[in-house]
Amino acid sequence: MSSAARVAAIRSIANKSPHAIEARSTNVPELFGANVFGLEQMRTCLPESAYQALKLCMEQGQHLSPDLADLVANEMKQWAIKRGATHFTHWFQPMTGSTAEKHDSFVDFENDKVVMEFSGKALIKGEPDASSFPSGGLRATFEARGYTAWDPTSPAFIRETQNGATLCIPTAFCSWTGEALDEKTPLLRSSEALNASALKLLRLLGDERVTHVYPTLGCEQEYFLIDRELYVLRPDLVTTGRTLFGAKPPKGQELEDHYFGSIPRRVLSFMQDVEQELWKLGVPVKTRHNEVAPSQYELAPIFERTTIASDHNMLTMEVLKQVGQRHGFYCTMHEKPYAGINGSGKHNNFSLSTGTGENLLEPGKSPEENMRFIVILAAVLRAVDEYSDLLRASIAHAGNDHRLGANEAPPAILSIYLGDQLTEVMEGIISGQKGTSRKGGTMKLGVSSLPDLPRDATDRNRTSPFAFTGNKFEFRAVGSSQSPTKPMTVLNTIMADSLDYLVTEIESRMSKGLETAVNEVIAEVFSKHQRIVFNGNGYSEEWHAEAKRRGLPNVPNAVDALACLNSKKNIDLFSRMNVLSPAEADSRMNIQFEAYSKAIAIEGQCALSIARTMILPAAQKTQRDVADSLSSAKTHGFAIEKQSERLRDMTMRIEALVTCLDDLADVFDSAESHVGSEFDHAKVYRDKVVPAMDRLRVEADQLETMTDDEYWPLPKYRELLFLH
Ligand code: ADP
Ligand code: MG
Repeated sequence: MSSAARVAAIRSIANKSPHAIEARSTNVPELFGANVFGLEQMRTCLPESAYQALKLCMEQGQHLSPDLADLVANEMKQWAIKRGATHFTHWFQPMTGSTAEKHDSFVDFENDKVVMEFSGKALIKGEPDASSFPSGGLRATFEARGYTAWDPTSPAFIRETQNGATLCIPTAFCSWTGEALDEKTPLLRSSEALNASALKLLRLLGDERVTHVYPTLGCEQEYFLIDRELYVLRPDLVTTGRTLFGAKPPKGQELEDHYFGSIPRRVLSFMQDVEQELWKLGVPVKTRHNEVAPSQYELAPIFERTTIASDHNMLTMEVLKQVGQRHGFYCTMHEKPYAGINGSGKHNNFSLSTGTGENLLEPGKSPEENMRFIVILAAVLRAVDEYSDLLRASIAHAGNDHRLGANEAPPAILSIYLGDQLTEVMEGIISGQKGTSRKGGTMKLGVSSLPDLPRDATDRNRTSPFAFTGNKFEFRAVGSSQSPTKPMTVLNTIMADSLDYLVTEIESRMSKGLETAVNEVIAEVFSKHQRIVFNGNGYSEEWHAEAKRRGLPNVPNAVDALACLNSKKNIDLFSRMNVLSPAEADSRMNIQFEAYSKAIAIEGQCALSIARTMILPAAQKTQRDVADSLSSAKTHGFAIEKQSERLRDMTMRIEALVTCLDDLADVFDSAESHVGSEFDHAKVYRDKVVPAMDRLRVEADQLETMTDDEYWPLPKYRELLFLH
């Protein structure tokens, strides 16, 4: 191995120009949703009564009759075939963190002739072999069958390549005994729970109009781009999505010149291609910009109903990767591709919307809207404080450990940023003054108005994991690579629980009149849960001390965070809300422990192999060259003291590297053979393998700075980060 491949890649990148889109369209309204079989398409092809029935299914999750399913399947097939589709697939989210698909063609025989067939049955139910998907012990292997069921709330769509097209039908994935084997089912269940609880509250507050409440979600998605020619020379990136080695480059993000900087042309062309693809799929992508770290970027759509927005985020991640390939990039959504440089997150902006599109976190202008807003705000505070462990667990995985608790945005302590004005309102309510706004006007709930709350970005606190941003909350601690489904399921569930709690409390005091009952209850809730509100700097030492004093949990690693998933309190919550049965909740925890152990095991193996076969030989070659050179210098009688020192230093480093290698291999073997629960296993990986990998990296990165560049086979940080 030498640096020849690396140098060739660098030369090649120097001459690259932006990749043009083959069939570019400038008519966005026409392009938007062109590959989606949504309500629009259905209206044009279904009889009115069928359309109305299907609309009810899609908007309110009602059941689809077999006759209607046949009708829809037939129209869907014709629509898809017209767009070149030959196959269909049920598209689902097993508990692997990504999506799964098994394709079937429409081809069938009728009287010995080939016909293109797609029945209602095939639309609403599929039976993939479930034995190879994680079930966490829910399903014994001999009962390997599971089934996928169409989720009519999410429209079907077509994925195209140059060579064909496939009709994708978003589905839920269950075992034959009815247990959820996927991420989507609990999300749908939690949305129903939230709808029921929110409606109860609205009725109690006197709203008879609203018939349906649903959560909304807008995911800001961060990612890194790396030129593929360099990427393929990094086995760590190929295998794990992040660099396991790499010395600090001379320039990182310290100049702060990348954020919102002008977008490189090759990257912009890629983004434009991504947008065209996503618009076709009905994903309303809206913003694009450079992020803080070199070669880091972000994309954000307009928010949608959470169930659809989360499907759309999964699609977005797929499209980013696939289009990236077309443009000669590798797109990594890993939370921490590079040490020493910002990682990536996924900011989940969320709110509650009524069926008529009213935002329930909009403070509003009228006293009624104000009261509703304050009650829902109180519910959020209670939810996040009471179940901060669950929220923390919902974002816990090996990749996110590099951000949370590792001195990077945001901290692992969950707290809520409200901003000064809203905090004053809260404090006013607690102290019984019914709130005095900063601008001097007095506020009495249900009588006069809330102060105008600032909504511009300058007033925001960027270090808070959970921030109120004018008319929505932004959950910023979500990992960039993870499906938004888990955190959103937890948010829906804990919100439903808190709304129920508020309803029960208010109802029990209704003899005092609605306004007094509401005032009392929210004063109590604010008072009990105000400890979760923190408007200061989330990175500071003081906050860590203060949070401890307040009794807020600080769980810096995924393994401990996941362990709360089977606490009695949380199991009861999921059962009460009909989101997860105790068996489902327990199995999910075990799947995640296993996923953690596997992720670390793969990283460990990969680190071993790179260090043994690429780093050690390169360093030894340099060592040999230097030793040879010093011998001949010595025979000529030259002074070589300083150089000898260097050689000694390098030799010691190589020794240390070999020691660390052996150590990692040993630790690894003992982790593999460790007998115990999934939890125990994960703890061994966390406590033994991760530190051994870190120690190995220190030596390897030092050697990178000493080894002859001509021998160094791995593209360096300065190349990965700045060449494209
Ligand atoms: P930022 O300054 O954080 O980029 P934006 O207003 O652009 O703020 O919002 C970021 C994301 O929040 C977008 O995806 C946007 O659609 C989404 N968003 C806005 N309002 C809501 C809402 N009511 N519910 C959910 N997401 C929302
Ligand atoms: Mg934002």
